[in-house]
Order: sequence, then structure tokens, then C-alpha cells
Amino acid sequence: MMVIDGSFGEGGGQILRTSLSLALLTGTAFRLEKIRAKRKNPGLLRQHLTAVEAAVAVGHAEVSGATIGSPELSFKPNAIRGGNYRFAVGSAGSVTLVLQTVLPALLLADQPSTLVLEGGTHNPFAPPYDYVAQVFLPLLERMGATVSLQLERYGFYPAGGGKFAVTIEPCAQLKRLDLMKRGKLLSQSARAIVANLPRHIGERELQTVRRKMAWQDAALEVEETRNANGAGNVLMIELAYEKVTEIFTAFGEKNVRAEVVAERAAKEAREYLQTEAPVGEHLADQLLLPMAMGEGGSLVTVKPSLHTTTNIAVIKKFLEVEIIAEEMAGQMWRIDVLPQA
Ligand code: ATP
Repeated sequence: MMVIDGSFGEGGGQILRTSLSLALLTGTAFRLEKIRAKRKNPGLLRQHLTAVEAAVAVGHAEVSGATIGSPELSFKPNAIRGGNYRFAVGSAGSVTLVLQTVLPALLLADQPSTLVLEGGTHNPFAPPYDYVAQVFLPLLERMGATVSLQLERYGFYPAGGGKFAVTIEPCAQLKRLDLMKRGKLLSQSARAIVANLPRHIGERELQTVRRKMAWQDAALEVEETRNANGAGNVLMIELAYEKVTEIFTAFGEKNVRAEVVAERAAKEAREYLQTEAPVGEHLADQLLLPMAMGEGGSLVTVKPSLHTTTNIAVIKKFLEVEIIAEEMAGQMWRIDVLPQA
């Protein structure tokens, strides 16, 4: 059985999720040791355990060590089965990361799938729902996939209770993705969602964005909602180009002023605008697996994060693929993904 050291590189939950995705795709059994050893709360948390349970269901897998806090997990997949699934984190843990885990396998399943996912839809340190819908899935569609999302309820930390539905059509082979340039700027906008909180929080965030980005009021929108179990606030700055859309996110926190929250997202957006790389830091680590399982491709990105380099190492353990990252001029990097068919 393949043994993976969960403490290497980034040493977090991504090693687990990428291993589960690739084990399902390749039918490879693995044992993961020292799970999330570099985190101050190591082992499987609710969100990770739900990802394991989802992978077990989709791949009819045999598993041991699938308990909260477990530092070790063995996973032996069988055939992937598409169908109707419901996965609930049972806390505010991110469900977009549960989707990230099983989506690659369900793209190659024998029939269409529908998923109902319950938990956190907008979490720090995870792709927010809107990021999956506006940034990641359009690129996956360009590679030939047909996946649609429907948000039913927002889920913010700490109350959770969010919900969205996903439909996935099988796709025999993901096509090559080339993402070397952004193309023309089509739109720039910022949206502040305030769930069960005063509207002025969102208004103050957007005024800060207006100042920091030198944008007009027409680009700014507050969305007030009661469609969430508890309170929550997220600010998303979106830059849409011909070939790619990027979203920069910051979350409202107790005892942190709305202006400070907005400055965090604006700083990331401005850093993105300082280079010409189409692929931002997070998108880079998320695109590698779909590219490696398909026909590969090339992208230009910012300096690869530890997440990205760790993901490359895990992908290479499971797939016959070359992934080459090379620095270019202008603080940009080129990553080539070359499946060795
Ligand atoms: P751990 O608690 O072990 O760090 P985790 O399982 O919560 O881990 P990570 O290993 O940190 O998660 O992985 C987070 C994933 O979320 C990565 O794919 C990363 O690209 C993505 N991500 C994080 N922040 C954002 C963001 N602001 N926008 C889009 N994607 C994001």
C-alpha cells in the first residue's frame, strides 16, 4: 500500500484531499500518516472527515482511521459510482472542500451525479462558493466538464448550516488547458454580503474598496440576506477578464473594523493587478489536479505557494505526469503539466 507522509511540505488538509481524489481516480489504496501534523490542531477535523466519508461513498471504499482527531487513515477504493449524494459537515467546516475532493472522480463516473452539500459555504482558508462558481468551474467547463451549482442557503462560521446543490455530467477526458494571458478586462466589481448583520458593515467595506481600487459606485454592491443560520460577512472583489476571472476575499470578524477587512481583500486584488499572471495563488493549486488527470496544459501564475508545491508532489505520487514550474520575468511563473500517456 502507498504510504504518504501527511506532515511534508504544507502539512495540512490539502494532502488528504488530493490523496483521496487521486486514489479514487486511479484505484490506488494508500495509508496517510501524520495527518495535518503541521497544524496546531492536527488530525482529522469534521470538514476532513466529511471529505473522507464522501470519498468512501463515491468510491465504495474500505477505510480505517476515519474518526475525529485521527492522525492516520487507510483508504482502499473500489469502483467509482455516480448518483445522488448528500454530504453534511455538521459544523461550519467548508463544504466546497468536500466538493473539491469528490468532483474529479464524479467527472469520470458511469452516470451523472447530484450532490447536496451542507456546512460552510463561505469560509476563510477555503474557496468561497462564489469562487467555485465564477472562477474554478468556468475553467473546468473550458476543459470539457459540465458542472452546475445552486446556492440554497449561506453558511458562515460559526453557525454553519449553509447548503448548495451540484449537478455533474460525466466527461470522458478533460481537455488541455492553456492559461498564459488574462485577455481584455471585462468587468471589475465588489460585493459585500451581510447575513443577519447591519448593512453599514458592507457599505463601509465597499467605500474602502472604492478608495483603495479607485472604482466607481456602480461597481459596488451590498447584499443583505437573512438566508443564513447565523451572522456572517464576506467581501469579494472580482476581476473578470476574457480568459480568467479572479476573486479576492476577506471575512468580517468580531473586533476587526470593516475598513480593515476590506483592506485585506483590496491588498490581494492590487497585488494581482501588479503582475500580468492570469492565475492567482489559490487557483494555481486548484487547477493542477484537473490538468494532470486530463490532457495537461500550461499556465502562468504568481510565485507558487507551499500549497501548490505540496500538491505537485502528491499528484506525482499517484499519476505518471511531469509538472515543471519555472520562473519567468515580472514575478511570474510558468507551470507545465505533461501527462506521460
Ligand atoms: P488545514 O486546516 O489543514 O490547513 P484545510 O483542509 O482547511 O487545511 P488547506 O489545506 O489550507 O485547507 O487548503 C485550502 C484550500 O482552499 C486550497 O485549495 C486553497 O487554494 C483554497 N483557498 C484558500 N483560501 C482561498 C481563497 N481566499 N480563495 C480561493 N481559494 C482559497
